[in-house]
Amino acid sequence: MKETRLRIRFFGDPALRSKSIPVKHITEEHRQVLSQMAQLMYDGGGIGLAAAQVGINEDMIVVDIGSGLYKLINPKVTDKSGTQVLEEGCLSIPGICIKVKRADKVLVKAQDEYGKEFEIASDGLLACVLQHEIDHLKGKLVIDYASFWEKIKIKKKLEELKQRIEDEKLPESERKSCQLQL
Ligand code: ZN
Repeated sequence: MKETRLRIRFFGDPALRSKSIPVKHITEEHRQVLSQMAQLMYDGGGIGLAAAQVGINEDMIVVDIGSGLYKLINPKVTDKSGTQVLEEGCLSIPGICIKVKRADKVLVKAQDEYGKEFEIASDGLLACVLQHEIDHLKGKLVIDYASFWEKIKIKKKLEELKQRIEDEKLPESERKSCQLQL
C-alpha cells in the first residue's frame, strides 16, 4: 500500500476482479485508507465501499446506511437466513442497477481499525450492503447476479460505460442513477 490519494476504480479496472487478502497487521496506513474510503463513499453518495474499489485488494470495507459509519477489517459472514431482493447500484459501475437476491439477515464478524473483534447482527438494507461489499473482496460484482436476459440487456451499456471511463467522460448524473450506491 503506497497510494496516498485514493480514487474510485471503475468497471474494467483489474482491482475490481482481484481477490482481496486478509489484513494481518493493522497499521496507521490502514486507518488512513479506511477514512479516505469513507470520504469517497460520502462524496459519491454511496452507502458502502470496499477497498478493492479504490484499488487496494485487502479485506477492508466501510458502510454507512445513515445510522453511523462502520469500518470493517477482515469481515466474514458467519451466519445468514431469509431472503430479500433489492435493486443495487455500484459506485464502480455507474448507471447500472441490478435486482439482487440476498440473505435478509446476516451475522458479520470483523475487526475494527485497531484490531478489536466485533460482530454486527444485521437485517434488511444493512445486511444487503454488507453482503455487497464482502462480494467486492472476492472480486464479485452486482452484474454477476444479472439474469441471462438482463446480461444481454446490459452488455451494450457496459461496453459504452467502459469506453466512457477510458475516455474519462463520465457525467455526474450517470453516477447517481440508481437509488442504492454501494
Ligand atoms: Zn459496489
